[in-house]
Amino acid sequence: AASFSGKRVSLFGLGGSGIATAHALIAGGAEVLAWDDNPDSVAKAAAAGIATGDLRAADWPRFAAFVLSPGVPLTHPKPHWTVELARGAGVEVIGDIELFCRERNGRAPAAPFIAITGTNGKSTTTALTAHILKSAGRDTQMGGNIGRAIMTLDPPVPQRHYVVECSSYQIDLAPSINPTAGILLNLTPDHLDRHGTMAHYASIKERLVAGSDTAIIGVDDSWCAQIADRLERAGRPVVRISKRLPLTDGYFADGTNLMEAVHGRYSRVAFLEGIGSLRGQHNAQNALAAVVACLKVGLELGEIQAGLESFPGLAHRMEQVGRKDHVLFVNDSKATNADAAAPALSSFANRIYWIAGGLPKEGGIEPLRGFFPRIAKAYLIGEAAPAFAATLGEAVPYEISGTLAAAVEHAAHDAANEAGGEAVVLLSPACASFDQFKNFEVRGEAFRQAATAIDGVKSIGG
Ligand code: ADP
Repeated sequence: AASFSGKRVSLFGLGGSGIATAHALIAGGAEVLAWDDNPDSVAKAAAAGIATGDLRAADWPRFAAFVLSPGVPLTHPKPHWTVELARGAGVEVIGDIELFCRERNGRAPAAPFIAITGTNGKSTTTALTAHILKSAGRDTQMGGNIGRAIMTLDPPVPQRHYVVECSSYQIDLAPSINPTAGILLNLTPDHLDRHGTMAHYASIKERLVAGSDTAIIGVDDSWCAQIADRLERAGRPVVRISKRLPLTDGYFADGTNLMEAVHGRYSRVAFLEGIGSLRGQHNAQNALAAVVACLKVGLELGEIQAGLESFPGLAHRMEQVGRKDHVLFVNDSKATNADAAAPALSSFANRIYWIAGGLPKEGGIEPLRGFFPRIAKAYLIGEAAPAFAATLGEAVPYEISGTLAAAVEHAAHDAANEAGGEAVVLLSPACASFDQFKNFEVRGEAFRQAATAIDGVKSIGG
């Protein structure tokens, strides 16, 4: 990052991405002063050769920029003290994605850059897009909010492709973000604790597509549909995608077929039939976005189809982890609220042995009532168990299993004894994990281990 060569830059937030950013700035010739509220992080940075100092005492007007970690509040509920100091001194506040954009813009021709945001499906779409590009032989780097921090990726030389997942916090800190293709998948209320109102949250996400050479927008919710209309009226190139509507112009899913529409004339560009890792309507939206972005950077349809078919899927998102005879074990630990659990419950028509619970979220499982007829039995764990039991009531048989291990054992036993076709033991908890686990990943691994430890279960992937 040479954009601050010879200049002073302050930096707050010394987690992994903060340290990588500080090193990149120093390597680019900047003089960095870094700080964190956590003394351990400060000590670690100092040991790694980064100059540290309390930014309360710093001479702010001398900084050319202030680089902030995306975890730190910019506006809501109130600006972090560093942000107030920076603003007071007229110093611009930016993040690591902004540094990447400036570096990329400084080289011609600019490296192909696909940026992805939305409320749900970001990681899946990012991983899928990167996978398709890689399997087509393109030089591909993936990072941002998924996997590696952007400053640890290889430098943006012209033929290198970047696929970057962006949270709203990161977009908020990247005023000049201008990807080749910007993807906005969907917008539903989430993270409003940090962003205040839905309108403000939507306006941040809109900035990513507003700056894109091509804006790829999922128009299945009204917030995104309005953004697509607004950008088009402003003369921006917009490609609409829909997982359910046959559009006149754009791309849409017709069952498992992905279709292109040009003035009402349709042709199939790809298909998802038989691709287990992309099951469900929500994944049709993710796949459409990836397909359009890959077309935009010049891939052939045959290369795209091959990439879709070899996509292994992401861990903890409707991940098939094991099978025993007619029973499939599916880890959807990432589903930490009712909205996120809905896709899994709607994707398996089979009888579902549903493991749910954990640290409850507002609204509980009430929004999932429509799926209750698919559930053979529910196995409730964690603090949410009594409340979930009350919602299930007479509608669904349930037991309070308490622990995940007991739930897996009982569900596997009941599913195995069931006569008839396919059955699914599904962990899709609709809850945070923190009452019993460190995070959703640890919960998902515990499920995988418990499932594959059952006599006769063959593990899949992982
Ligand atoms: P994110 O990175 O935005 O959190 P992920 O790709 O990790 O999204 O998916 C998380 C969960 O959200 C999945 O397990 C699935 O239940 C749900 N999901 C994935 N894609 C979509 C989508 N396009 N629309 C709605 N829900 C989705």
